[in-house]
Amino acid sequence: MPELPEVEVAARQLRSWLSGRRIVAAHAARSRVIRGQAPQRFASLAGRRLAGIERVGKWLLLSFDGGEGLISHLGMTGKWIRRRKGAAPPPHVRATLELEGGQAVDYRDPRLFGRLVRGSVDELRRFPSWRALGPDPLAGIDAARLHAALARTKRSLKEALMDQRTLAGLGNIHVSEALHRAKLDPRRPASTMTPHESRRLADAIRDGLRYALALEDGPEPVAYVEEGGENRFLVYDHAGEPCPSCGTPIARIVQGGRSTYFCPRCQPRWRGRVNRAKARAR
Ligand SMILES: [Zn+2]
Repeated sequence: MPELPEVEVAARQLRSWLSGRRIVAAHAARSRVIRGQAPQRFASLAGRRLAGIERVGKWLLLSFDGGEGLISHLGMTGKWIRRRKGAAPPPHVRATLELEGGQAVDYRDPRLFGRLVRGSVDELRRFPSWRALGPDPLAGIDAARLHAALARTKRSLKEALMDQRTLAGLGNIHVSEALHRAKLDPRRPASTMTPHESRRLADAIRDGLRYALALEDGPEPVAYVEEGGENRFLVYDHAGEPCPSCGTPIARIVQGGRSTYFCPRCQPRWRGRVNRAKARAR
């Protein structure tokens, strides 16, 4: 499932594919991806040029000249792909931007969990899922803000970090990876973190995202693990395999209906060892 690094790569690709090329035709099929919107709203992108792309977490906001916009979320299986002039569209294409010069950019989504939302940029900025997003961690994480967000929830660290209001863009992969890098128990109540541990977690999130982005940003981006791509993560989807640090078999548990992967030795069960006075002193 695409998380922040894949969406960042999609943003970079769309910028390079769309910049300087006028859209000559646009269409979207009626599908769950566009929900109840009229396909005509997509057709009205014809004649426009890309003005910019903003990414917050897993969401993209494309702006075109004239103040028109398009929100994109890749859901589980969405992908923007470029098609050569004259080539037939692949299966499962839900929307297409045809460009001057004969190339086309397709939005492909076999399982239809993605979203495309048309509107003016002003309207789209008020779109509830966009407005609700917390800060994007790629440019840097405010560890004090992260600590404050974790301090006010009763949820586990895993579930608190999956919440897009805490930080935007982390999913099952990058939460497992960050908690492993920070040597934190995913089951631990988020509110018990010390400021020092929150700082360590912020660094671990940054390192995991940068590592994945470096892998993704090659000429041939790594396929999603679910699609048979090579798994180069530390713990994600490695249940039963040796921990890269200590060799202990990686454990898999389910939290909030989703798998969590961790090393029981490097990320030992949190038992409330840190008392409040000690936490304040750190
Ligand atoms: Zn380990």
